[in-house]
Amino acid sequence: MKTDKLGSFLVNTARLEKGDYDKLEVSKEGVIPGIEMPFSWVPEGSKVYVSVQLELVGSKVLVSGSAKAGWIGTCRRCLENTAGLIQAELKDFYSYSPAIEDEYPMANSTLDLSLVARDALLVELPLAPLCNQACLGLCQNCGKNLNSGSCSCSYEPNNPFKVLDVLKNENRLDF
Ligand SMILES: [Zn+2]
Ligand SMILES: [Zn+2]
Repeated sequence: MKTDKLGSFLVNTARLEKGDYDKLEVSKEGVIPGIEMPFSWVPEGSKVYVSVQLELVGSKVLVSGSAKAGWIGTCRRCLENTAGLIQAELKDFYSYSPAIEDEYPMANSTLDLSLVARDALLVELPLAPLCNQACLGLCQNCGKNLNSGSCSCSYEPNNPFKVLDVLKNENRLDF
């Protein structure tokens, strides 16, 4: 067992492949661009944290552990900025000749953990964020943010984001 704490997401697997040790514990942190969905994203320059164990399985390297990051986005009801944390479990193979779609490429005894971390965190980003499960949204008549008090309209709320609430109950659109 060896601990690797280099700055980037690249991991040298030469000694693991040689059999110098059975497992390699790796903790990495850094910026991974492109973790973004239309209504939520990991902010530019914000760090992603990856903590994994690497082990050799045949000629492939199995990476298991977790990745986490903070996200920001827009509340689907009140349209205010909102934020949260996502964490993803990782269990993926890196291979010199990726045979199936969900294997990641490696070369010259080096693999890039940002590849698995990006894919896993993307799936965890909320598609329709809420600032709060109880968010009251905006009045459709006067536009007032009803979280900061009711308005004097007697207008029947007709939230255009209601369709997302329906979807949310049918699928897993957010937390
Ligand atoms: Zn809200
Ligand atoms: Zn109103």
